[in-house]
Amino acid sequence: MSYDPILNFEQIMKFDVAIVGAGPAGSWLARELAKNNISVVLFERSPVIGEPNFSSAGSPAYTVERFRLPPASVAARWDILRINGPTTTFSWRYDTPIGVVFDFRELKVLLLKEAEKMGAIIKLGSTVENVKILNDYSEIYVKSEKEAYRAKVVVDASGPSGVIATRLGMRKAIPIKPSVGLEIIAETPQAPIDVFRTLDFYFGRVWVPHGYGWIFPMMKPCVKIGVGVFQLARYGGGPRLEDFLNELIKRVPYLSGHHIVETHGGMLYGMGIRHHVFKNVIAIGDAADQVNPLGGEGIRHALQSAEFARDVILDAIAKNDLARLEQYDIRWRKYIGWRWWKCRILAQFFYHHFSDSMHDNFVRAVSKITAQEIFDALFEYKIWPSIHARLFKRHTGY
Ligand SMILES: Cc1cc2nc3c(=O)[nH]c(=O)nc-3n(C[C@H](O)[C@H](O)[C@H](O)COP(=O)(O)OP(=O)(O)OC[C@H]3O[C@@H](n4cnc5c(N)ncnc54)[C@H](O)[C@@H]3O)c2cc1C
Repeated sequence: MSYDPILNFEQIMKFDVAIVGAGPAGSWLARELAKNNISVVLFERSPVIGEPNFSSAGSPAYTVERFRLPPASVAARWDILRINGPTTTFSWRYDTPIGVVFDFRELKVLLLKEAEKMGAIIKLGSTVENVKILNDYSEIYVKSEKEAYRAKVVVDASGPSGVIATRLGMRKAIPIKPSVGLEIIAETPQAPIDVFRTLDFYFGRVWVPHGYGWIFPMMKPCVKIGVGVFQLARYGGGPRLEDFLNELIKRVPYLSGHHIVETHGGMLYGMGIRHHVFKNVIAIGDAADQVNPLGGEGIRHALQSAEFARDVILDAIAKNDLARLEQYDIRWRKYIGWRWWKCRILAQFFYHHFSDSMHDNFVRAVSKITAQEIFDALFEYKIWPSIHARLFKRHTGY
């Protein structure tokens, strides 16, 4: 594809930072940079604010305070965690709500409004197609726009498409093993009250082969019901996600009589990122494959990477030294350590090699650990110490 030379554009708009994508990562970063008097433009290809609304958006409760998220973006708080195997089930109860489920659309809408209030320019319906890196700035090309944009720093926050990171070779072009999810938001008039305070997972081939199912609370009477397959390429066809979703709905009695409010889905990639920084371009969130491979939790990590990006961008601009952006890569790698690698190995075993009886044994094994330990395993990825290796081995054979 060829592009007009910048001189052919009617107007050149100059900014300190251009962000591509208004997901949680891009919206949060726009707010934070604008708050620090950095001139920011954010491009989002969706013409509708808050769209696409694809995420189940479960998270630990501390995410809200840690990243100063708008409290109104929380759709539900949960203090019960339940894990179901093919024939087994176990719940843990917490003294206070330990987790939240965001209204994903509202989270983005509210963050964008805050960003705009702080002075960020939000361009909806603007699909970024390419970036040209010049000496101390980049030119950003937006589909069918007459203006051209220049920025000292470009942030790719475009989610799984990783449009800039892929073009610049920071990421592998075609991720070979995407994980995929399909979800509905449904009104469930027959659901018992505890459903609206429970994060509920369904493991085993009878529920979803090579993946898992979930029911997450939203504002009563709504819940999110979803199914996801880990590394689709390994699944090799067979029934579609939609069939698993219908099967899950059929097997959970209180879901009968549900009414679908919305259907959505999305993809997650892993291990495609090569470099988080290339000259004056930084990739954050799902554009840099930062989602955790164990359960697909990505919002907290997208926000964390946005926070690292904010700090290095402020530093680089203040010191007029874009080479300092490299610090971002170091900080991110330190943050994940070996945890993502361990989670990926565990996920391979768990989703692809466990039989139904092993999933049942897994539920029996984890029923021996405390509420804090299961939380730490699922959200802090403290896998080996908490699911005591011997206990795990005895019950699963691995
Ligand atoms: C089905 C499903 C369920 C999930 N459940 C959870 C969960 O329970 N908890 C959790 O923490 N995480 C969950 N995740 C993961 C989480 O949603 C993502 O990790 C998170 O949204 C990543 O945020 P982001 O800002 O990096 O990217 P995204 O949210 O993907 O945002 C990227 C944005 O960039 C825009 N864009 C793309 N290309 C361009 C372009 N060329 N120009 C302009 N804009 C562009 C897109 O329209 C989008 O708005 C789930 C994901 C899926 C698919």
